[in-house]
Amino acid sequence: MASGAAQTPQEASSGGPKGPVIIVGAGLAGLVAAFELSQQNIPTLLLDQENAENLGGQAFWSLGGLFCVDSTEQRRMGIKDSRELAMRDWLGSARFDREKEDYWPRKWAEAFVNFATDEMESYVKARGLGFMINVGWAERGDGRADGHGNSVPRFHLTWGTGPEVVRVFAEPVKEAEKKGIVEFKFRHVVDEIIVDETTGRAVGVKGRVLEPEETARGVKSSRTVVGEFEISGSAVLVSSGGIGGDVEKVKKFWPVDRLGPAIPKSFVVGVPAHVDGRMIDIAEKTGANVINRDRMWHYTEGLKNWNPIWPAHGIRVLPAPSSLWLDATGKRLPPFLFPGSDTLATLKYICSTGYDYTWFIADQSIVAREFALSGSEQNPDFTGKSVWQLFMQRVFSSKGTTPVQNFTKYGEDFVVRDNLEDLVAGMNELAANSGGLQLDPAKVREVVETRDGQFDNTYSKDAQVMLIHSARTYWPDRRIRIAAPHKLLDTKKHGPLIAVRMNLLTRKTLGGIETNLSSNVMRADGTAFPGLYAAGEVAGFGGGGVHGYSSLEGTFLGGCIFSGRAAGRAIADEVRGAAAVSAVASKL
Ligand SMILES: Cc1cc2nc3c(=O)[nH]c(=O)nc-3n(C[C@H](O)[C@H](O)[C@H](O)COP(=O)(O)OP(=O)(O)OC[C@H]3O[C@@H](n4cnc5c(N)ncnc54)[C@H](O)[C@@H]3O)c2cc1C
Repeated sequence: MASGAAQTPQEASSGGPKGPVIIVGAGLAGLVAAFELSQQNIPTLLLDQENAENLGGQAFWSLGGLFCVDSTEQRRMGIKDSRELAMRDWLGSARFDREKEDYWPRKWAEAFVNFATDEMESYVKARGLGFMINVGWAERGDGRADGHGNSVPRFHLTWGTGPEVVRVFAEPVKEAEKKGIVEFKFRHVVDEIIVDETTGRAVGVKGRVLEPEETARGVKSSRTVVGEFEISGSAVLVSSGGIGGDVEKVKKFWPVDRLGPAIPKSFVVGVPAHVDGRMIDIAEKTGANVINRDRMWHYTEGLKNWNPIWPAHGIRVLPAPSSLWLDATGKRLPPFLFPGSDTLATLKYICSTGYDYTWFIADQSIVAREFALSGSEQNPDFTGKSVWQLFMQRVFSSKGTTPVQNFTKYGEDFVVRDNLEDLVAGMNELAANSGGLQLDPAKVREVVETRDGQFDNTYSKDAQVMLIHSARTYWPDRRIRIAAPHKLLDTKKHGPLIAVRMNLLTRKTLGGIETNLSSNVMRADGTAFPGLYAAGEVAGFGGGGVHGYSSLEGTFLGGCIFSGRAAGRAIADEVRGAAAVSAVASKL
């Protein structure tokens, strides 16, 4: 039985909590919980404010990158990883420092690293998920063994990306729907969690029915109300996602103590509009303890999508280390703020400049090899499981994938020129259009030539050049991810030059509803809230903030799977426990 969620005597004598388990939010966390419940034939109702097209929520759009430790794929690549190393990396990144608010997050962190080491791979593979053979290396770190970052590659890309992650859980849940165990109600937006006044237990939800709509997945939908609903259930699971779709909320909770007083004015948005965070406030009003709201995970390499699906749609570049990174004033970012190294430290630096953008200076060779775009729709080869396309676009192509080529051609953040002076002129034109700074071409040349001067040997005193050489000793990176070290001004061989304006991109919420290891919601007084559970991003991916301050990547989908599984199993125990008590009572 879920800790702290014991039945009251009234419930036991009346046959326990009644009705289906209600899940608010049919994203990945909700689907995993529904999968676990349906495995035990527990009646479950999934409510979602969006239409059926959106089943799976954000996970559908994801690259499907999963954090696993000492996996089959890592071992095949010769990567030596271990629980101890992963735990050290996790703690070096999380930097838990809050006595009360980090109590459950610390426990979740330990439990999650154990899950990622012992069970994640077999759990998802048993559902039919497959990983790509080359394990990716995200968040390469801040240059310290005990600091932020992954010591080894751990980002396991799903073959089929996000849609496949959704499919392997959605399919069995839909099968259970056919058998009458699971029911879906789309376009149902929850506004209130109903609590039994006598028992203090969550016993249902209230909300509004939105007008039916056939909008495509991810498109912002109408909020026209056509009815109301009130539904009772045996337990309520909140799995409604984070706040990244509401820029004003992101600004409201911005950590000025850590990232400085200059809250960025403009962002591109990395999640659909339904990631609105309303349920966090609704749960808090009901008595759930919400913690670590100032912890967030936003990216510094956001592109305005030239072909947007949701409002202000941004696409993140998952960069490899070779691009030269300049701030808006034209200064090179200091070590260890290199592409793909330390997201939040880079964000802090950018905020200190007073500008919301930076520049990557790269060339055709670097963009072709090193610009991976985050998003299932931006990787048709992986998403469509096409080995042929993968080889043609990532191994043999000198131009990069088709989506990268499209961004280079149509993306408003890209400047492509044959020489540096023209490139800077193009950058200045772009900056002028958005109130940015004009750069001095002579100064940019000085920075580029200084960087290029470190490429005459295979050794160097420049930390970024050292990182490039070191990273290429991992052979998948050398083969398909990191361009051969070269000078940017060697345009004959590697040109044209390409400058990319990188915007700030909202994405993940690291804090949220506090939960114990059963995903049972905690109240402010430290007791568990009977009948109320939370999983996924709304619960800070477990505990109200399993990541602490920083993430190692691939831990968000993983966190949804782990916390959704914990919720489903604990609720099943609770509901079955109640049923068993009821059966015994009826025999007496
Ligand atoms: C482009 C992209 C790439 C990503 N790549 C990765 C990756 O490679 N690896 C990784 O680990 N993570 C990745 N992530 C993050 C990860 O996908 C999300 O953190 C995760 O899917 C969140 O799942 P969730 O179930 O908690 O919430 P969501 O997916 O946000 O689902 C919540 C659902 O709740 C519904 N809802 C909200 N409020 C209400 C309400 N009041 N009433 C009814 N319904 C409601 C919403 O409509 C939504 O369907 C990526 C995210 C994006 C957008």
